[in-house]
Amino acid sequence: MFWTRKDETGNRYGKLRVTAFASVNKQGCACWECDCDCGGHTVASGHDLRRGHTTTCGCAWTNAFVEVNRKKEEVSCQQQQQ
Ligand SMILES: [Zn+2]
Repeated sequence: MFWTRKDETGNRYGKLRVTAFASVNKQGCACWECDCDCGGHTVASGHDLRRGHTTTCGCAWTNAFVEVNRKKEEVSCQQQQQ
């Protein structure tokens, strides 16, 4: 089978910087080792990286989630005090 892959090493997608080729997944897509700005690490397919589906190791989503919950807690605390 003729198959080539685009070399993503060194490319940056959002918070992720591609450091090395990881593997080929079941769909035949190349997956890449990525370092995140937060110090985290993830493996993402080149397809997801190029489409902007994967731009962090998951930290951005987690931070946004924590932030929302924190604000909710602050609001409920204030309501209880009144
Ligand atoms: Zn991260």
